[in-house]
Amino acid sequence: FRGRDIDATETTCGYCAVGCRFEVHTKGDEVLGVRATDPEGAPANDFSTCVKGKFGYEFAGSDDRLTKPLVRRDGDLEPASWDEALDRVVEGFERIRDDYGPEALAAFASSKATNEENYLMQRLARDVLRTPNIDNCARLCHSSTVAALLQTVGYGAMTNSIADVAGADAYLITGSNTTESHPVLATRIKQNVRDGADLVVFDPRRTGIAEHADQYTRTDPGYDVAWLNGLTRYVIEHDLHDADYVEEHVHGFDELREKVEPFTPAEVERLAGVPPEELASAAETLADAENVVFGWAMGLTQHSHGTANVLAVANLALVLGQVGKPNAGLSPFRGHNNVQGGGGDMGTLPNKLPGYRDPADPDVRADFADVWGAEPPAEYGLKVPEVFDAALDGEVRGLYVMGENPALSEPDIGHADEALDALEFLVVQDLFRTETAEHADVVLPAASFAETDGTFTNTERRVQRVRPARDAPGKARADFDILTEVAARFGADWDYDSPADAMDEIASLAPIYGGISHDRLDAEGGLQWPCRDADDPGTRYLYEDGFNFEDGKARFVPADMGRPGELPDETYPLTLTTGRVMYHFHTGTLTRRAPGLTHHVPESFVEIHPATAESLGVADDEYVRVASARGSVVVRAFVTDRVGEGVVFVPMHFAEGAANALTQGDTVDPESGIPEYKVSSVRVERV
Ligand code: SF4
Repeated sequence: FRGRDIDATETTCGYCAVGCRFEVHTKGDEVLGVRATDPEGAPANDFSTCVKGKFGYEFAGSDDRLTKPLVRRDGDLEPASWDEALDRVVEGFERIRDDYGPEALAAFASSKATNEENYLMQRLARDVLRTPNIDNCARLCHSSTVAALLQTVGYGAMTNSIADVAGADAYLITGSNTTESHPVLATRIKQNVRDGADLVVFDPRRTGIAEHADQYTRTDPGYDVAWLNGLTRYVIEHDLHDADYVEEHVHGFDELREKVEPFTPAEVERLAGVPPEELASAAETLADAENVVFGWAMGLTQHSHGTANVLAVANLALVLGQVGKPNAGLSPFRGHNNVQGGGGDMGTLPNKLPGYRDPADPDVRADFADVWGAEPPAEYGLKVPEVFDAALDGEVRGLYVMGENPALSEPDIGHADEALDALEFLVVQDLFRTETAEHADVVLPAASFAETDGTFTNTERRVQRVRPARDAPGKARADFDILTEVAARFGADWDYDSPADAMDEIASLAPIYGGISHDRLDAEGGLQWPCRDADDPGTRYLYEDGFNFEDGKARFVPADMGRPGELPDETYPLTLTTGRVMYHFHTGTLTRRAPGLTHHVPESFVEIHPATAESLGVADDEYVRVASARGSVVVRAFVTDRVGEGVVFVPMHFAEGAANALTQGDTVDPESGIPEYKVSSVRVERV
């Protein structure tokens, strides 16, 4: 590019948690394109990016970007100076804190923001606002994964790496539309399957990855514990389990065997619609393989019994002896680019400080007090769904939302709208005037990943550098700078010259990040936690030397059978499930402003099985109304046998035709608080 004034900045993709590396090519502030790279320490993505990586950057230069703060005057959001906007932020939160106490305040961090920004957001909540109410959108995607893995193996994270996923001898993938949601990861799996690995997919929807499977089994939505326990029962009954591994490494085998006993093949067929011969062939394929990877995503986690679903997967993997060795293990495919770091590692959780340390422990609080100058609150705060309920009850009155769009991502968005309107004071910090920003009292314009300095942690626990390739537009600022200034205006004495300083502080407080610094990342590329000191090379797969419990042994935690919170009836006879498409990301805030993506899938749709469509008199491509007890949307019908009879699918990305106008918000997993997005009752009618 010499002589053409083109710069190349090496950074990490800001979409999904595969964490592909690429160069962003810019001329001034114009992004010209990206080129995949494969530097030292990158995930094993084989020089790839998907279509989102290639074209998804276009949002950065969108005319819709917020370039000035907005404040509400006489009911309308109007441009304001940073001074006025930040004065209002401080006044608004201080007034509520003085009148109702700090528990009347809450903050949502973001799995899209960097680790350093998430660390500051939870510090702002706990150390400055003095509220324990800090959470993030991971509550809505993999909180059930974290709850289950903490109980069974000890860390709430993927036990292995993308390299291990690429090298497995067999896979069980369930509830993951890997091809569309984690495209580069799916490519590695498909390459390996072409080379001879066995792929077994259980899913209510025949997703793209299922097209490559040796066995695809369609399941009834909401009954995953049945078939997973059925597989475990089959394995034990036929002596296919790894008895030596279980004896040496896992507690609770007898209780597990007793709990799975009722899940006979006939009972699994009755509950989950899985034919006995398919249950048997899947069990035998998995038991025969040397190294098995168990992959899942939100099709498994977003249920009112999501934690039980993941416990059942973990039990199956442990009984087969498949955790703690290369090319095997438990692989929750996380969603956002930084959901591992921003979604949990940084302490943006109501019951965990950075590094998953417990605020109820006085010794832990003392460690934080040494650095912060004050102890964090000892009590646990509210989870995201509880914050919305508390807003309607008047218990939470002020909310600070960074980089999230709950007005579209919450289940039952009518309920979310009411809760946002009930707040006395709402601050939204984002790139665009989102559906959530429309409810705000103050909107702060933020920088995108292409304009930010810091780190992301991908799905395999790999911390990687994010570097600014262009300036943020207008007066937009990095979340890091905004949070630092908000804290200063509250009188806090934070001492960070840069995100690198914040990472040093994180390393001092979160032992799993103890050996990670920007200097090291710049020199060595990515580092996978646990990385406990400057000499630690990081950890490709967990539990080689024992599980994360004092005695080093994992735990079988039997999974109890749950049923969906809502079942079809005469008024709403169909089951709705939701998900993603390749060309969009979450609430579409970014991808719908990327012309290279949005022209592929410009609008929402509903997938309907041909038999269901015929019974309703619905033709392919006609507009239909999909209605639930909570709301209705009009979308285009796509008649396909990707879904089973009686099941319909709507993607989550579109404000017009919003899937979450239909989903239920009042049925949540009691352990993790994750709502039941994946099973709601609806009807479809012609319009
Ligand atoms: Fe980005 Fe994920 Fe696509 Fe890689 S697979 S380019 S991380 S969206």
